Amino acid sequence: MPARRPLPRELQPTTHVKNEWNNAHAAACADDLALRVYSSRLLGSNPSLVLHGGGNTSVKMQSENIFGETEDILHVKASGWDLGTIQPAGFAPLRMAHLMRLAQLPELSDTAMVRELRACLTNPASPDPSVEAILHALLPHKFVDHTHADAVIAVCNSTNGEEQIRKVYGNSLVIVPYVMPGFLLAKACALEFQKHAGAHTIGMLLMHHGIFSFAATAEESYNRMITLVSLAEDHLKRNQAWVIPATETIELSAVSPSRTDLATLRSEVSAAAGFPLLMSTHTNPVSLNFARRPDIAHLAGQGCATPDHVIRTKRLPMLGRTVEQYAATYKSYFAAHAPTAGASLTMLDPAPRIVLDQQFGMCALGRTAADCNIASEIYDHTIEIILRAHALGGWQALPAADLFAIEYWELEQAKLLRAGLPKVFAGEVALITGSASGIGLACTNAMLAQGAAVAGLDRAFQTTENNYKGSLLQLTCDVTDAAAIDASLTETVRAFGGVDMLILNAGVFPASRRIAETPDSEWDATMRINLDANLRLLREVYPMLRLSPRGGRVVIVGSRNVPAPGPGAAAYSASKAALTQLARVAALEWGSDSIRVNTVHPDSVFDTGIWTDAVLTARAAAYNLSVEDYKRRNVLRTEVHSTDVAAVVTALCSPAFAKTTGAQIPIDGGNERVI
Ligand code: ZN
Repeated sequence: MPARRPLPRELQPTTHVKNEWNNAHAAACADDLALRVYSSRLLGSNPSLVLHGGGNTSVKMQSENIFGETEDILHVKASGWDLGTIQPAGFAPLRMAHLMRLAQLPELSDTAMVRELRACLTNPASPDPSVEAILHALLPHKFVDHTHADAVIAVCNSTNGEEQIRKVYGNSLVIVPYVMPGFLLAKACALEFQKHAGAHTIGMLLMHHGIFSFAATAEESYNRMITLVSLAEDHLKRNQAWVIPATETIELSAVSPSRTDLATLRSEVSAAAGFPLLMSTHTNPVSLNFARRPDIAHLAGQGCATPDHVIRTKRLPMLGRTVEQYAATYKSYFAAHAPTAGASLTMLDPAPRIVLDQQFGMCALGRTAADCNIASEIYDHTIEIILRAHALGGWQALPAADLFAIEYWELEQAKLLRAGLPKVFAGEVALITGSASGIGLACTNAMLAQGAAVAGLDRAFQTTENNYKGSLLQLTCDVTDAAAIDASLTETVRAFGGVDMLILNAGVFPASRRIAETPDSEWDATMRINLDANLRLLREVYPMLRLSPRGGRVVIVGSRNVPAPGPGAAAYSASKAALTQLARVAALEWGSDSIRVNTVHPDSVFDTGIWTDAVLTARAAAYNLSVEDYKRRNVLRTEVHSTDVAAVVTALCSPAFAKTTGAQIPIDGGNERVI
């Protein structure tokens, strides 16, 4: 059986926000920028304060320029950096004098603002500064911290939110009504700050958006942020709006979405999007309780918790599996709001990124596994925020027009354009057997590099750590164990939503032996792994391949021994020949399902697990060759590597071979007996 793993991600209960300041750590910081990094990381590593780029911080310092003059510099978080892991290079250094002049302009378009901010940089190699840079510059404090804290958003987005905020914070905060981020928000904040800031002001609250704290030191600004957020949490607690009781007790074992149902949903959503999307499924008590609430349409049908989430989750989740209806509603939303944008807009795809379903719980969709993770994490928090605001008197999101303005903001649209074309297998899933070494490992790396999410099956992995941000699922699985295959497929579909490409690579090459000396046990074991396991995999994966948005693809790793067998490898050659025949029949049977099945016949790939030194020496001896000559005994006199095989396997899965099925391709450097 595969090793037990926790569910993809259960929603952890949130605790009262903790003050994590550590004097020893702070004392080790060499300067103000190091302190800025330290306290930014404290904020960024608490998901109830900051989620996926959802906050920013700054520090005002002085430094000497190339002429020996002292300049005031604002170091503000740059886009593309995460507060939780930020480094000094993640703060863009901007000349304050230029920023303050920009702030005096009566108006400035967002595109012009981004260009001007770049022109203020003292280091042209720096990434783009936060679009809230001018706002940071205008606040007259050395350290400025900004978060989208859940508790604050919950109070803001409840009925009479502003009134409640005033009650909670008194005159400690300057309160700014909602304005879209950018130049106008900076101007509005400066105006409100001048009018209302007083001796007791320790922060500023942007309605429906987030909260700022500021102070002369990093520690005080951080402490103030914690205090301000705790006040909102206390308000929720006092009003029985903190711990939200479940509406029903759910026995998780009674809810188990079928693989085909999940793959069907992913297929339909991908069709609505016009391109393949991955889908992660989070069937847990919190999401099920939320999806099953009688008032779910009212609660989930209003909008995001804070505007920048719209890019990740879209304005609304889809309720149930009504994909066509969702897409139609999205198109009407675009048609209703696009004319007010003042620019000609291109509609984004009308497919949902979050699905709430009474059987599935929550599903998150995206073109990469990282996108799915971000969307699901944001929505986990959104559920909590909605329920708390609801308990506080009524959940009220920003109007659709404001969220539309962010979704189609020129800066966001420009970001999409800059991102360029997606990778060839973006949004697709490859399942690869024998993925821990040799050809399987090379195929895994090639698939990941070309944008696929990969479920890799093997009996053991050398390391379970990987840097693929959830794109690689390593499943410990013996392919001859039917129950283990079943569990691995379920886990794959729960993580990614389906299987588009099946690479059957796992195999054994028994020690060289003549037919007269081949025992039944060795013959049977070879057939079980090289043949029987693959029949089972083909059969079990078929329902998912049929549902693949671009048509399923199977690549079978055969062997040169199929067209040109050698003596002493009867079991191996026979098993691979039977497997090749199986692939040919699959190509015939599944063509009408748009599933392509092709076979590669590698030869002499010596960087694989099969080729131990002992096997290599024995095979070389069988041909009366040295090991070196044996490795290059082909027409091209070349060595064949695992990566060469992986290149052909991925090409066979790519659109280049869209019209090819039932083919057998040698990867052997040319073999006279095959040619
Ligand atoms: Zn913000």
